[in-house]
Amino acid sequence: MIIRGLNFASAMARWIAHGMRVCTQEQIEQRLAICEACEFYRDGYCQHCGCPVNDRREIRNKAALFSETCPRNFWETGHNPDKNADAVS
Ligand code: SF4
Repeated sequence: MIIRGLNFASAMARWIAHGMRVCTQEQIEQRLAICEACEFYRDGYCQHCGCPVNDRREIRNKAALFSETCPRNFWETGHNPDKNADAVS
């Protein structure tokens, strides 16, 4: 639980440092589809980093944060996270 809290704090720091941008719904669903086929995905969480991964466009969802990456670099095969993200209004 402590590790998960530290990971979330680190994710928030990266998110703020990178302009608090969130992915489009399409990008979130692309990432989630990759996670759902991944051996580390279970019950809405990445078991590698402990972060929640789902289809919701909210900051508690790792897949929604523009600044987040897959710890195994699997997402980069799905799309380039440096493109087409929306700024939070
Ligand atoms: S974030 Fe990466 S390692 Fe984690 S479940 Fe998704 S694809 Fe797998």
